[in-house]
Amino acid sequence: MGTIIALANQKGGVAKTTTVQSLADAYAEMGRRALVVDLDPQACLTFAMGIDPDQLELSLHDLFMGTAKLDELLIELDSATLAPATIDLAGAEAHLLTKTGREFVLARALRPVAEDYDCVLVDCGPSLGILTINGLTAADYVAIPFQAETLSNRGVGQLLETVEDVRMFTNQDLRVLGAIATVHDGRTRLAREVLAALPETYGIEVLEPPIPKSVRVAEAPARGVSVLEHAGRSKSAEAYRALAHTIDEKL
Ligand code: ADP
Ligand code: MG
Repeated sequence: MGTIIALANQKGGVAKTTTVQSLADAYAEMGRRALVVDLDPQACLTFAMGIDPDQLELSLHDLFMGTAKLDELLIELDSATLAPATIDLAGAEAHLLTKTGREFVLARALRPVAEDYDCVLVDCGPSLGILTINGLTAADYVAIPFQAETLSNRGVGQLLETVEDVRMFTNQDLRVLGAIATVHDGRTRLAREVLAALPETYGIEVLEPPIPKSVRVAEAPARGVSVLEHAGRSKSAEAYRALAHTIDEKL
């Protein structure tokens, strides 16, 4: 109950945000409630869930600045509860740099709140900066979405080094849940090879199944929904449902 999973990969465009939103919807279909946390100053998750960041009075920026509590800024949506981001979150990074205990702001805020949810999914941004460190410090598990087509999985190694640092300094209990193959094109040999090599190269499991590449997934955010709502019978939607079950079994 209330397990906190950070989805992290400092590479942009590997479907971290898409995966957070889709897993939250998959859990909602199972009658569960997720809290999703948008730690990216680009606020893509907030947008994708149909919320305009420019209209928000309070966001995670206020939490990091110390001017609001987490429960004051949460937004209840049909599919999940959202801790929204705004563009000013980038400014919070600079503010945090001068603060003692800066790595623990999210962890401390989530502790009393996480129990109210079946799971908490933290959408990290495309950097290994202090916001992502906050996500990893708050988390029980980290899951790593990656795209096998690009072969640029060097980033996975860097991320795992950061996970080691986090274990050493701020969260010794952080566990790697596994990698998630996203935007996957199983027809290409490269994608199959990269996928097969990952466990040996990095010692991490690839969580089944891969999420097929599909225009249906890409269309969904503009409608403020995930692929589960936009094209519920598509292979990608089914894959996200199966992934939610895989994750459940591992927790
Ligand atoms: P990140 O959060 O890692 O930067 P996003 O979730 O924003 O990545 O995804 C990057 C882009 O890829 C988005 O335009 C998204 O709609 C698209 N995308 C994600 N998953 C798929 C998929 N399975 N098939 C096709 N496009 C996808
Ligand atoms: Mg994102």
